[in-house]
Amino acid sequence: MNKLIVTIAQTGSVPTREKTPNAPLTPQEIAKDICDCYERGAAVTHIHARDENLKPSQDAKHFKQILDLLDEVGCPIIRQLTTSGRVFKDYSTRAQVLTLKPEMASLTTGSVNFSSWIYENEPALIEYLADTMYKNNIKPEIEVFDTGMIQNALELKKKGLLKDPIQFNFVMGIKGAMTATPKNLLHCVEMLPSNSTWQVAVVGPAHVQMSTMAIAMGGNVRVGLEDNLSFSKGVLATNAMMMDRITAIAKAYGRELATPDEAREMLGLA
Ligand code: ZN
Repeated sequence: MNKLIVTIAQTGSVPTREKTPNAPLTPQEIAKDICDCYERGAAVTHIHARDENLKPSQDAKHFKQILDLLDEVGCPIIRQLTTSGRVFKDYSTRAQVLTLKPEMASLTTGSVNFSSWIYENEPALIEYLADTMYKNNIKPEIEVFDTGMIQNALELKKKGLLKDPIQFNFVMGIKGAMTATPKNLLHCVEMLPSNSTWQVAVVGPAHVQMSTMAIAMGGNVRVGLEDNLSFSKGVLATNAMMMDRITAIAKAYGRELATPDEAREMLGLA
């Protein structure tokens, strides 16, 4: 079977010091955690940044601090920057990280309710971000919160805004979005063009089972504190614990881990 690409999502925008002592929040903590997860087998890191007050930031300068620290130690992991708009709504703020020309960036292709708020991604914004990524040779990872977002990505492909192979990230288990069930995962995978690549990123206790299913199906997985603060009931996770569990499962299934360079090849990065 093809090699397994493990993406580590260090911190996202939700964890705070109060919620867990284990989430890396400063640039130094995040960079150190990324390097540690690379050593444990991660090929890609999905990066969110915080400002000086540890609040979520889409300011390119806060991302650059992390990237510079990774450069300093020569960590070869693929860097995927978030263009998420949980807090920020205007187009230029959403696109600011793309000025750093990362190898990859996330691209959510639709709007969805997240629990009590709306994650808004209007069609014009999606096209703007896709076009900016295309022009700067940044590989989008399509974030899918329900199946309509797969369809929207295929429309972007028709418009010439996405290159093959398209990389999909099925985010499951968020209240208000797609539930984390085997049937939903099978349905999502069946909707993809055959040359696509995909992974699951599951929020909630089903993440171990769904990640294992993805490993068995030949898909890829994302783990980390962005998606889950708990390792198991009553036990707070660290990213290292999440990495070690998923790589042990992969090993048991006979899936070798892809190095960053092997992942570059599989994802069609330049
Ligand atoms: Zn994210």
